[in-house]
Amino acid sequence: MTVSFSLTADQEQLKRQARSFAREQLRPLMTAVGQSADPLQRALLLRPVMEQAVQAGFLKSLIPVPFGGLASSGVDAAIFIEELASESPDFVISMAGPLIALAPVYEVGTPEQIARFVAPFLTDHGAPVAAMAYSEPGGSANFDAEAPAEGVRTRAVLDGDEWVINGSKAWASHLGGWDGEGPDLMTIVCRTDKGVSLIVAEREQLRGHIDVDEYYDLPGLRGCLTTRVTLRDVRVPKDHLLGDEGDGVRLTRNAFQASGASIGTFSVAAMRQAFDIALRFAHGEKRGGLVPVIEHQAVADILADAKGKIEAVRLLSWSALDAVFSGRPGAPELALHAKIFGSETGVEVINALIKAVGVTAYDGNFPMLRHLMDVLAYPIIEGGNVGVRRRQLQAMMSDPAYEPLAASGLA
Ligand SMILES: Cc1cc2nc3c(=O)[nH]c(=O)nc-3n(C[C@H](O)[C@H](O)[C@H](O)COP(=O)(O)OP(=O)(O)OC[C@H]3O[C@@H](n4cnc5c(N)ncnc54)[C@H](O)[C@@H]3O)c2cc1C
Repeated sequence: MTVSFSLTADQEQLKRQARSFAREQLRPLMTAVGQSADPLQRALLLRPVMEQAVQAGFLKSLIPVPFGGLASSGVDAAIFIEELASESPDFVISMAGPLIALAPVYEVGTPEQIARFVAPFLTDHGAPVAAMAYSEPGGSANFDAEAPAEGVRTRAVLDGDEWVINGSKAWASHLGGWDGEGPDLMTIVCRTDKGVSLIVAEREQLRGHIDVDEYYDLPGLRGCLTTRVTLRDVRVPKDHLLGDEGDGVRLTRNAFQASGASIGTFSVAAMRQAFDIALRFAHGEKRGGLVPVIEHQAVADILADAKGKIEAVRLLSWSALDAVFSGRPGAPELALHAKIFGSETGVEVINALIKAVGVTAYDGNFPMLRHLMDVLAYPIIEGGNVGVRRRQLQAMMSDPAYEPLAASGLA
């Protein structure tokens, strides 16, 4: 295997295309989102922009080549996500639902399931959305727990040739779709007679059987459409079960691998923006002193430490996404490090940069706090670092066969 950190001509082109879309479309979009107080209304502002992104082929670039999409490399995905998320992580999270919801379809779907469930997202028009319905209002960290614990509470019961699904789901982007009638596709983590299972519901089966109970008003990622919904007697064909009944815990954990690794890249996107702001401030401001702020060693140290951490998280995330996309054995562990280390470094770095800028950073009209509000979400979304992600690392390292060098392929 060749390892090179130089962008190829195609990657340069990808970076330029994503960056110009981000600056021309996502920057003004986020100004509009920032001016809207209503969580539903501001999320709906994303829809026409998503239609343009779909037309530009961006949705297909999240679907792997073997399934008809354009995604072939984890590093390409990282470059693409970083550019878009630098202007609007909300937009990327909204568009990237299929990255999680379709992951178990790629892993264990029958040819018929793959053809049917992937097709709506291989389009050049519209704004199709998918939701991975894992989280529940009463908590999800222990979704795999068995009685007497509750574990996952959403229940699917077989009635003839159909599953009948009842329960409550929360937080996942687009649980209600754009209009409250459901997304184009929802992968539902639920309990069946044989344990935790994954069942796919399409919009036609959700319509009329889903109630949006609440639109969350998020402090960051304000364009994300996150809701709490009730599923009432959702009937889906029996053959919408993914893989084996009772295999849902494993499939759910695997489903969050690519998106978990990409949290490192989301974090880089936020850090890089905050760094630019702090660097410009440090060059341009004397704050009543004799020299620009950057000439104070303490400030320069903060900037230097921040930059080193940004570079480190970027490379870790490239490596993790590359491992996930190419199916290298180190992927599960690297994805967890990119998620945990990336998200927590993001919070630490932006907090430090705020201190370097000082009180100006605390002005809501100064562009810094927005990145802190976004990055604060990263340790807790995609499986909170405390309740979910570190426990997965603990399980790996508790295995007597755990080999520390394996993640890097150096064992
Ligand atoms: C913008 C956004 C997008 C999201 N997208 C999705 C999505 O697409 N799909 C989806 O299903 N969810 C989504 N979520 C929810 C997200 O994935 C959460 O990480 C998930 O619900 C789990 O939350 P949690 O880890 O805090 O667990 P909770 O069950 O809420 O637990 C809360 C806390 O209790 C403690 N705890 C509980 N049990 C244990 C334990 N056994 N060991 C140690 N500590 C424990 C931990 O401190 C934990 O953080 C999204 C959330 C946001 C804000």
